[in-house]
Amino acid sequence: MIRKNLLNFKLNLPEDSLQEQFSAFMKKFNPALERCPSCGAKGQCTVFAYYERGIVEVNDGRISFRTIRILRVICSCGHTHAVIPDFIIPYRRCSLPFILYILHQYFSHAMTIENLCMTFEISHSTIYRWKSLFLKHKDWWLDFVRSGRTSAASFHASLYAADPFSEFTSGFFRKTLYSFLQSHTNPANCRHLPPGWTFPETFTTRHVHSPPSVHAL
Ligand SMILES: [Zn+2]
Repeated sequence: MIRKNLLNFKLNLPEDSLQEQFSAFMKKFNPALERCPSCGAKGQCTVFAYYERGIVEVNDGRISFRTIRILRVICSCGHTHAVIPDFIIPYRRCSLPFILYILHQYFSHAMTIENLCMTFEISHSTIYRWKSLFLKHKDWWLDFVRSGRTSAASFHASLYAADPFSEFTSGFFRKTLYSFLQSHTNPANCRHLPPGWTFPETFTTRHVHSPPSVHAL
């Protein structure tokens, strides 16, 4: 997987604009300039295939559905990688802005859980799973001490204040090899660190009692 940072400004951008930005970006995308996440080689990727991917979004406070075309590139080492923009969470149908919108409604008590479930066609358990993952990733991003002093609502507000938001998404990925709010591990061909990548000491220390370890990613 090759992550591309497109949220170059604040998070509360209409999702339509993100799609337009993604389309414009992909028109100019050159696989030959990419570094393979598996072997680390640069200039060895070429177009392999495209596939359709459905995503669930929020637009003007309403749920909406869209299909976008994702490029998969292949490296000379034989591994293939999907080119995924940062408003998409790997292995999830719901977009990152969609989930953060739901969590904002939840943390701010702007909507009841029942209303959220009815309006956005999701279950109670889904909201609680998202909340749990959000809190876990908050701990990963802040250290546990700082995280303990920072409420979920204020961390959430800090994400909306981040400008550009991509500094956070790219930083989170570099630090953890997970995308923000990604729950499943990356495929085997992305589980090791490519050449030149290192984890900060604080990350490996922090996860001694809290998997995943570097080797489990
Ligand atoms: Zn490669």
